[in-house]
Parts: sequence; structure tokens; C-alpha cells
Amino acid sequence: MRARRLEKLGLKTAQSIIFCLPRDYERPAPPKRIDQLRDREPASLIGTVTDRDITSRTPGKSVFAALVENETGAVRILFFNQAYRMEQILVDQKVMISGTPKLNAMRMEFVHPQVTVFDSDEDIPTPRMLALYPLTEGLRQKDLRFLVAETLDAVSDQLTEVMPEPLRHSAAVRLGEAGIETPTVLPNIQTTLRELHQPSSESSMQFARVRLVFQELLVMQLALAMRRRRLTSALKSPPLPTTALIDARILHRFPFELTGDQIKAIKEVSRDMSCQFPMNRLLQGDVGSGKTVVAMYAMMLAVANGHQAVMMAPTEVLARQHYHTLKKVLAESRVRIGLLCGSISKAERSRTIDAAHHGEIDILVGTQALLYGDIRMKKLGLCVIDEQHKFGVNQRVALRSGGVDPHYLVMSATPIPRSMAMTLFGDVELSTLREKPPSRAPVHTYLAHDGWKDRWWSFVIERLKEGRQVFVVAPRVVASSTEVESEPLGKSHEEESLENEDVSSVETIFKELSSTTLSEYRIALLHGRMPAEEKQATMQAFADGEIDVLVSTTVIEVGIDVPNATVMTIFGAQRFGLAQLHQLRGRISRGTHAGHLCVFTDGDLPPAENERLKLLEKTDDGFELAEADFRLRGPGDMLGRKQSGMPPLRIADPLRDIDILTVARTMAQEMIDEDPDLEAAEMSELKSQVIRRYGKRLDLGDVA
Ligand code: ADP
Ligand code: MG
Repeated sequence: MRARRLEKLGLKTAQSIIFCLPRDYERPAPPKRIDQLRDREPASLIGTVTDRDITSRTPGKSVFAALVENETGAVRILFFNQAYRMEQILVDQKVMISGTPKLNAMRMEFVHPQVTVFDSDEDIPTPRMLALYPLTEGLRQKDLRFLVAETLDAVSDQLTEVMPEPLRHSAAVRLGEAGIETPTVLPNIQTTLRELHQPSSESSMQFARVRLVFQELLVMQLALAMRRRRLTSALKSPPLPTTALIDARILHRFPFELTGDQIKAIKEVSRDMSCQFPMNRLLQGDVGSGKTVVAMYAMMLAVANGHQAVMMAPTEVLARQHYHTLKKVLAESRVRIGLLCGSISKAERSRTIDAAHHGEIDILVGTQALLYGDIRMKKLGLCVIDEQHKFGVNQRVALRSGGVDPHYLVMSATPIPRSMAMTLFGDVELSTLREKPPSRAPVHTYLAHDGWKDRWWSFVIERLKEGRQVFVVAPRVVASSTEVESEPLGKSHEEESLENEDVSSVETIFKELSSTTLSEYRIALLHGRMPAEEKQATMQAFADGEIDVLVSTTVIEVGIDVPNATVMTIFGAQRFGLAQLHQLRGRISRGTHAGHLCVFTDGDLPPAENERLKLLEKTDDGFELAEADFRLRGPGDMLGRKQSGMPPLRIADPLRDIDILTVARTMAQEMIDEDPDLEAAEMSELKSQVIRRYGKRLDLGDVA
């Protein structure tokens, strides 16, 4: 019976039993002060017996009473018909008493309390922590505690230690330096499991937890470091180093001072590009943080070294925008720039492809769809991918040229929390632009309820009269559909509950606004189901100022730059993730005029009562919002954990354990630098754990 229940919980082997770790602990209350006891409230206390007496020795009629005192007062304890207590409870003895006191006259009295007698002061225990296990379906916590204790006793000396003592020692030092409290050596595996299941104190339980969390993260980071190393030694790229002269020439072209973060990112990129293995760097930064400058620097660096660069954008509008920016910045130089996108004539297209092939174009800009075709560059050195939201450990793009791999720089405005970048995308290097270029106008965010609609639209009309342009965003294309259009972050998180609800749709809103409130303005509709050319034309017209109001799904989320658009209304906001809303908000922070975003939700709950949306109102920091998304919705939702191909962690939580993760990552890197295949004899257990857990997934096969 018990065996079957255990099996149901997945506890078939001794191994699975002792690694079924407590989810929490029951911590008995510490002894009470006598002056804080309350009538009829259970309590325990420690004190000294100062007096005792028995009223009658007649069996069946005796009353034993004793006085127990400590610095905080005195209580009386009473036992009826337990004359033998006279032999157990002596004057001057230290005792612990647990029970429910009652007030009798001015004194608290415990009738038949539990009494523990201590021989000496050292025996006085701190109240014991008891493990609370997850999923005990059909089993009592007590049974599980017993089973675990039994198993632990039986197999404790057969446990394999994957972290030899010197490693546990250096880990403790490094964790200590990072501000994590540890003993001088992390506990060995026996002590670790013992302390987790039967803690002797809060701190030793914590040390045990740190050790196991560290171990899990170290194993993962070792796997990732091995993989990084293999990638970098297997692939060859042209080294594209910078010099003071090149650096000065490139910087000279920008009409503004770079921000500190841009300079730092440029340094990181240049360092990577000077190596003979491919850069694999993710440049993340909030909308408007100036990622393009870093990308342009990298491309010019490639060209300065006699190589070509390509830049891919997800939409044609964006590709054109980059093309024009590059043209402007490089106007008086010899750098030749080409553009490839859908609306270009066939003849011109083949001319461009031909020129790129013969090395007559230095920088080729285009949409991804086109550039992934069979374009043969003469001497490709760098590939920049803009506004890429989805990465996976296994993602590398197959764009090669003459047998060498180009360096990769991938840019994203959906910030990935550092913890996630280090776990899910361990082989990608990360550069971050946190600082924004100066003199950006702020965006005001308002959480509105339906009662505000009239007021809001008259505000919008005032801005329109001033010549500004306006976005209106809703989650759905048509009202009747159950489908939510949410690009490019994938599916919305509440799709399942959509069927019978009123969800704002762009078609309904478009009809309503164009026939009533905004009928005097040039208003257009945009969504993912429109034919590509039509979408293209509409976005371009809006960018060119030929449209005043664009009613759109989230297709506008991706990097389009229309500085004159400063007002946005979002309907059905509860359907969107925070990072996505922030990304949308970024569309109206491009110019010198302050932006205004008004957020409405569908249904009864006004946005001001939605915890997530309140955060959006409160902070303008994309990283903070991404962290919150990660916490509230899980990483899978944000970027597709499945895609990343990493197994889930069992004990560690990257968000909570970010400091331990950072130490594990640094140490893993150092260990692999020193011993690339972990061949040292004392590392053999550790290595087999790495291979067992990650070998297949990360394709580390032949290391084993
Ligand atoms: P994003 O990171 O969203 O791609 P962009 O690279 O498009 O941002 O930059 C947004 C705007 O800020 C552009 O108009 C760009 O010219 C400007 N910009 C970038 N860096 C700076 C800087 N250091 N100082 C002033 N303006 C800058
Ligand atoms: Mg951009």
C-alpha cells in the first residue's frame, strides 16, 4: 500500500527518496516568556523547578503540584493521580514545559503539561525544525520524515560526492566574496542531505541548500562552458581587430557623443570581433537606447578590415530605415551600401545580389527572409540581426561565406533578465545598454477606466490638431475570432479564456473611430492578416506622415521609428505581457515631444486594479518590467523555454539564486579554461554528472 503511494509520488528508489527535498520547514515557536503567556493559548517555556508538593498519596486522589520559575516569572504545573512525578520532577531541575495554561487567580497553571527534564544546560535544545515535503498525497508528513530518515541511514555512506573538498572550499570562498553566507567549506553530500531533511539549525540548513543549489548551477554552467568552448574551437572566423585610428574614424561619423553604455558595448563587440572564432553576442537595450549605433560601429569595423557586413531586419520598413540611416552616416565615405527587400524590382535585386557576390557592396541591409536566401557574399565578416526576440541555445544562423563563419551580433529590445540569459542562453555573450541617450522626451502612462474615454479622445484630438500622429492598439483583429494576434512574442497568455469574452478588436475600433470620434482625420488599419504589400504600404504611409491615426495589432511593436507619433491608446491591455506593453510604449518615445499612453482593459476590472499594469505605470525601466514578467508569467511565456532546449532546474531558481549563479558561471568558465574536458581524476564524478544531465541536449557527446 505504502509502496504504491510512494511510487505514485515517483519515489521508487532510495535515490529518489533522499533527493525528494523538503519544500519548507515547520519551525516550532521558541519558548515563551512567562509574562507573555495568555489564558488558554498553547505555549512552551523553560525554567527551574523551585518548589513542589503532593497533597495526598492515596491512589486515585493525589495532586502533584510544582512551581517553575525563570527570569520572566513563575507558573504552576499540576498532575492528578500521577504520584510518580515526585520521583521525576525535583527542585533545582531545569525543565521544558509544553501545554495550554489557564489563569487561576493571578498565576498561570498548566494541567498535565508535557515535561522534559534536562540534566545540564547544554542539553537544552533549540526547537527542532521539521521538514515539510511536497506532494504527500495519501501520506502523512510524519511518514515521509520517517521513510527519509530510514533511507538516509541506509544509503548515506554509498552516496557519491561530485564536489571534492578543494572545490567545496574554493566555492565557499567565492560565494563568501559574493556576499553569500557560507561556512569555510561547503558541506559534503552526506551532511548536505542530512541537514536538508533533518536540520540541526537554520544556518546549517541554509548552508546545505547553498551547496546543492551551487552544485546544480555549476553542473549546468560547466556544460555550457564546454559547449561554448567547442563552438569556438570548431568554428573559424576572420579576426577583425580595431585600432586607435579606425576607432577615431568611425566615432567621428556620429553626430553625437556616445553614451557610456554604448562605448562599453562597442569595446565588448570589438574584443569579440578581434578573435578568430565567431562572436555570438546579444546586444540588448530598451527601445531608444541606441543599439543601432553599436551595430553601425561593428559593421564599419568589418569594412575597415576589408570584409563585408549584412544587417537583417524583421520588416521592410525597418530595413529601409536602417538603410537610410547608414546612407546618411556614411554619406562622404567610400563605403558601398545595398538594400534588399520585397518591394525592390527583380532586376535591381539581382544586380544587388551580384554586386554583393563580387564584393562591390560593403554593407548589405535587408529583411531576414531575403537575406537567408542563397546570397553568396564575397567576404562576409559580420552579420547583424536587429529586433530578434527569440534565441535558443541551439540557434546559429547558417550564413557562411568562403568556408568561414561570420561574427554575429544580435539585437533585442525585449530585455532578457540576466539570470535567464545565463541559464537559458548560456553560450551567448551579453551586452546591455541601460543608459538612454540624453534629451529624450518622457512618455506619460495613464491607467484609465472607461469613464475617461471622452476626456481621453478630446486630448488625442488636441494632439492631432498640433500635427502629431496617433497609434491605437488592440489585441484582436476581428471581434468574433478567438484568436489573438500578438506578434512577435507568440501567443497571448490568456487565449484559453477568450471564447466568450468581449475582446477589443482593431476592426471594431477602426469602424467606430473612423465613423465618429476621429472621422475628420486620416485613419488606417493595420494587422498581420493583411497582404504583405498592403501592410508595407500602410506602415510606410504612416512613417511618411500621410496617415494621422494607425489602428493596429502588435505588428507595430517592432522597431519602427516615427518621431512624430506621440500618442498611443492600448485596448485590452490585460492580454499583453509587460515587456510587450513597454515595447509598444517605446513607439511613442522617439521624438522630442512628450509621449502619452492611455491604457484600457476589457471587462470589469479597471487597469488601475491590475497589479501588472500598475508596474507599467510606475516604471519606465524595461529590465525591471521584463524581470516582473519573468516572475509573474514564467520564462516560457516570454521567450519559449522549450525552444531553448535546456532541462528544467530542480532546486535552483535563477531569479532568486542569481548571486550563486554568477559565482557558478565564473568558476565553471575558469575550470573549463584550465581543463577543457574536465579530465582531472578528482573531477570524474562531476564530469559524469554534467554529461548525464546535459550531454545529449547540448551535444557534448564526444567529450564523454
Ligand atoms: P534602438 O535601441 O531602439 O534601436 P536607435 O538605435 O534606433 O534605438 O536609437 C534611437 C535614437 O537615438 C536614434 O534617433 C539615434 O540617432 C539616437 N541616438 C542614439 N545614440 C545616441 C547618443 N549617444 N546621443 C544622442 N542620440 C542618440
Ligand atoms: Mg532599433
